[in-house]
Amino acid sequence: MKPLLPMKVALVTGGSRGIGRAICLELAKNGLYVIVNFLSNQKAAEETLELIHEAGGRGETVCFDVADQEATEKSLEALLIRHEAIDILVNNAGIAADSLFVLMSNEEWTRVLNTSLLGFYNVTRPVLKKMVTRSQGVIVIISSVSARLGHRGQTNYSAAKAGLEGACRSLASEVARLGIRVNAVAPGLIETEMIQAIPKTMIKQIIPMGRVGLPEEVAKVVRFLCFEDASYITGQVISVNGGMI
Ligand code: NDP
Repeated sequence: MKPLLPMKVALVTGGSRGIGRAICLELAKNGLYVIVNFLSNQKAAEETLELIHEAGGRGETVCFDVADQEATEKSLEALLIRHEAIDILVNNAGIAADSLFVLMSNEEWTRVLNTSLLGFYNVTRPVLKKMVTRSQGVIVIISSVSARLGHRGQTNYSAAKAGLEGACRSLASEVARLGIRVNAVAPGLIETEMIQAIPKTMIKQIIPMGRVGLPEEVAKVVRFLCFEDASYITGQVISVNGGMI
């Protein structure tokens, strides 16, 4: 039997469902070994891995809460021993907990900020340290149109996503000379469980293209940013939103 060639390794947080699953598949189809992170939905994570295998790719699932610093550190330590390095990191895990600001609970504020922003910090730092020693690596952050456009009930979510975009620009300038690129993708409304509660009539009114996007349409832009075609792009936020200006 032929030995398996070493593959470049990608870690996708929140890879079990929605946009994260599409990113996992897109990267696996393009030759990366994909680590599918998830929070609690093991069945969905295994389905993602199954789809990767069906597409001829390789990968594994790993459960940890990106908002939990200790758990994330432990999981990444183990992953970095096993894989030596993570070449590509996609910070995709994110949640929404919409509520008018005056009615928002401390828990709704903290949970959203902790998943997106603290999660980015918890996952990126250990992975980046290894990237720095190897002078190579790519980081992609999944932001949102809500970082830029205000939406009622999304003060927590907008704050988290705008924070990520700021972090993206600063970190990109910090590590550019080390051969590491950092970019963000800001989707508009994408067909996943996250937007199930939004009425279809409203979607047509707010999106110039008159339809929601597909997870695959976001994943293709992420894939572009991960490979050599994007070798001179860093510190950017790329919108994928059907024309929401
Ligand atoms: P989904 O709700 O479909 O999936 C969320 C994913 O994140 C799941 O894999 C979930 O894991 C994982 N996750 C949630 N919390 C954590 C955590 N604390 N630690 C680890 N993993 C976690 O979301 P989408 O695919 O719609 O969204 C993906 C990203 O895209 C998010 O950052 C979101 O903010 C952003 N986005 C989405 C838009 C949309 O319209 N859908 C628009 C703009 C941005 P599990 O399956 O175990 O629960």
